[in-house]
Amino acid sequence: MTTLPRRARARLLAALLTLGFALCAASAADARPGPGPSGGHATPDIVDSTQRGGRAVALTFDDGPNPQDTPRLLDVLRRHRVRAVFCLWGEHVRRYPDLVRRIVREGHTLCNHSMRHDDMSTWSPERIRADLLETGAAIREAVPHARVPYFRAPYGAWGRSPEVAAGLGMQPLGWSLAVEDWVPPGTDELVRRLEEGLTPGSVVLLHDGGGDRGQTVDAVARIIPALESGGWRFTRPARR
Ligand SMILES: [Zn+2]
Repeated sequence: MTTLPRRARARLLAALLTLGFALCAASAADARPGPGPSGGHATPDIVDSTQRGGRAVALTFDDGPNPQDTPRLLDVLRRHRVRAVFCLWGEHVRRYPDLVRRIVREGHTLCNHSMRHDDMSTWSPERIRADLLETGAAIREAVPHARVPYFRAPYGAWGRSPEVAAGLGMQPLGWSLAVEDWVPPGTDELVRRLEEGLTPGSVVLLHDGGGDRGQTVDAVARIIPALESGGWRFTRPARR
């Protein structure tokens, strides 16, 4: 075994100390709200209204991507130049990375919806953080420079997740209108619930994955032109 000259040893020690300090500083920064890996400031407040007031609405789609319904939904949104938020299920991201790339390419906003769609309401912050980081890594494997400014807890079972998400730079994203499209109750009924339930500034919870979402896509294809002719605009949810 060779021994290093004294000067080389000193340099090595100094380098290790610098590295250790940098790692400590990085983990301390991650522990509080601020510019996290997602690149934005976030707070633990769960937002459920749009950025702009007036006749504005934000459409959000959970549990995809899903090769049966996400491409058709993206076609509908593109035809009407409407941008939405996609709350991605990490395991589905791993399976269908091309769909994630298309979502980003067409100007939509990403939201972390956890890796395996677990109920996190009783989880420790450390366990939640590990899941959110794993999901973020899966998304960035598909789209290396993707921004993921939002997090939505599966089932809306938030537990300690809002503060963890904020620490990672993601704003917790709730909703103000759910039409139970997961049942699904029929396209006519979905359209009726959307028309009756919308109020200015609504964040609407819909699904493009986790089951057959054909009715959701059909309802969105009908509701968008109806809303546009009524003077509604489509926008993003607020970030506080
Ligand atoms: Zn979900």
